[in-house]
Amino acid sequence: MKRFVGTFLVALAGAISLPAQGTTPIAIVGARLIDGTGAAPVDDSVVVVEADRIRSAGRRARIQIPGGATIVDAKSQVLLPGLVDVHCHINQPPEDMKRYWLAQLRWGVTTMRAAGNDKPETVPFFRQTRDGTLLAPRSYTAGQGFSVSGPYAGAPVFRPATRDEARTNVQSLKAQQVDFIKIWMTTPKFPPDVIAAIIDEGRRQGIPIVAHVTDVASLHQLADQGVTDFLHIPRDQPVTPELVAYAKSKRLTFAPTLANSDAAWFYYELPDILNLPMLQDALYPRGRQMLGDAARKAQTLSAPDLSQRKARLRDAYPFIKAMSDAGVRIVTGTDCGAEASQITPFGHATHREVQMFVEAGMSPLAAIRAATLDAARVITRAEDPEYGSIRAGKAADLLLLDADVSVGICHLRLTRNALPDTGAHAKYCVSQLR
Ligand SMILES: [Zn+2]
Repeated sequence: MKRFVGTFLVALAGAISLPAQGTTPIAIVGARLIDGTGAAPVDDSVVVVEADRIRSAGRRARIQIPGGATIVDAKSQVLLPGLVDVHCHINQPPEDMKRYWLAQLRWGVTTMRAAGNDKPETVPFFRQTRDGTLLAPRSYTAGQGFSVSGPYAGAPVFRPATRDEARTNVQSLKAQQVDFIKIWMTTPKFPPDVIAAIIDEGRRQGIPIVAHVTDVASLHQLADQGVTDFLHIPRDQPVTPELVAYAKSKRLTFAPTLANSDAAWFYYELPDILNLPMLQDALYPRGRQMLGDAARKAQTLSAPDLSQRKARLRDAYPFIKAMSDAGVRIVTGTDCGAEASQITPFGHATHREVQMFVEAGMSPLAAIRAATLDAARVITRAEDPEYGSIRAGKAADLLLLDADVSVGICHLRLTRNALPDTGAHAKYCVSQLR
């Protein structure tokens, strides 16, 4: 994605102007490098980019800067891989999709997966984001997906009544060339034989399954049939050592998807963030209106059960910590752009999800890996994907920040353009520490 390089550095580091095309190498010099693998940061680094690839990356003394390279002085800045969000939705008219994708890029999300509710006619746009003809995050889609209940009225989904119908639906998704098949294990659920037919036909057609699961029984039902890629987490019982061992043995991965619930109060409590133009641009018009509604805000923030709602969300933290400590992959997914919520913005939601991983007890570097290399691994089903880390030969999806995320995760969003000298940084960070 050749154009990402110029676009990102310009968008996130301010006044740097780079050639967007061509083969002149670019050397990003002096940044603290966080490469996405979980390795310790490298201070005073050099990263050389040529066309759409990282040519070399490491300590300044070890990297040769090619003659004629455009030099980007990144002293006192932090360079990390572009962020990956494995759980988004973007079922909007094509022109609006393009706008929201750009908004997501401006927040540093360079890869996204739309997990269902995409109409057949929009599926080709996702391929265009990956062949470089559309300026957008590298995007994947599950097409309509399988859901009995929607998840909202009028949602584009398949609702097969029989095994044969389920197989026909999967074959239709294959013809559309979707990247994944989405199954919602929400109530009411499909009968087990219909679920089994979807999974089996997905395997025959070579399309991986991603599933929305919030109870342990459904997790076992799907994982026993080979599904590994889960959105949300089981919430019907506390995490147990047995569940952790099961998840590890089956190589399961989870995108806990906390940012969508958190958005119910987070933006009301932090108007400095809500009012950022780049946050407003990342919301649907109705979501923007809901979050701008003073009466709705007052009602939400004064509701007697607000602290209970926050506590219920934090009930997910022991699961995240236990799984992560055991080596079960926890990755960033937010439900950004979900039609049913409206108030989960593109881009910032991904930052917020990372922050909550740290609140749950993951180290900042592990949380960054969850949002970069590990999320890329989940989407690509490869241990060494072509994006998600800053290593020689990888795609040049880069994010240059003003502040050090390995010291304080609240800095993740503090790009120069996002919050120029408003004093809001400190307020934001304090709120994270409460
Ligand atoms: Zn979703």
